Amino acid sequence: MKIDVLTLFPDMFSAVMSESMMWKARERALLDFHVHDIRDHAGNKQRKVDDSPYGGGGGMILKPDVLARAIEAVRSDGDTPVILLSPQGRVLTHQVAAELSRQPHLILVCGRYEGVDERARLLAISDEISIGDYVLTGGELAALVLIDAVVRLIPGVLGADGAQDRDSHADGLLEGPHYTRPPEFRGLGVPEVLTSGHHAEVARWRRQQSLKRTFERRPELLETAPLSEEDHAYLAQLEDGAGD
Ligand code: SAM
Repeated sequence: MKIDVLTLFPDMFSAVMSESMMWKARERALLDFHVHDIRDHAGNKQRKVDDSPYGGGGGMILKPDVLARAIEAVRSDGDTPVILLSPQGRVLTHQVAAELSRQPHLILVCGRYEGVDERARLLAISDEISIGDYVLTGGELAALVLIDAVVRLIPGVLGADGAQDRDSHADGLLEGPHYTRPPEFRGLGVPEVLTSGHHAEVARWRRQQSLKRTFERRPELLETAPLSEEDHAYLAQLEDGAGD
């Protein structure tokens, strides 16, 4: 996958994109990542990219001509999604990340100030994504969140053991608890089933713990998660106050 980011603060990407799994994805040529400074497309000596809003009011607006030039410089074909990070966009979920991870090329546009001129949004942006119902000072952190969530789903980026398929939200549920050595820590032990060596029992316990955690913390997810008859039976026990 290729990702081009347009930003006024290119340095904000270097640390995150040079560490851990994002770096490994780049090193293994699974991710071709580029950051571009919107200011390079200012088209004036002062490198000015913003202006005050028509109609008055506070704040500054990213100019449409500058943004359009910056996008046109990286957009090789009309099918490439041009995504504006925006608190007004569709909210980033596992499903959105999975959908984006199947794209060969993404262009991410980081807004700043009061946002971008509406005409640039209408003419050059094909999608808008929010990372939650709050407002950041700029789109850079949101772009990094999106990149991390998307890139870890590209086949080959994480280990081949399929652990990411069991992560929270991958199958519509939250994941259950994890344990590692030592067998006892400050008076707390490890559920016996996990050391039993009985794989089918471990899988059943994990599924039930996942259902239980979702039931306790995010019951609304159960309305859309794909559930088996056995899952429904276990949930009925939880509703009755039973179930481990
Ligand atoms: N005036 C805008 C509004 O009320 O919708 C908010 C502008 S915000 C201060 C500046 C930039 O930060 C936005 O253009 C966007 O790129 C980014 N941003 C802020 N909150 C965000 C969020 N929740 N998700 C994604 N991007 C966000």
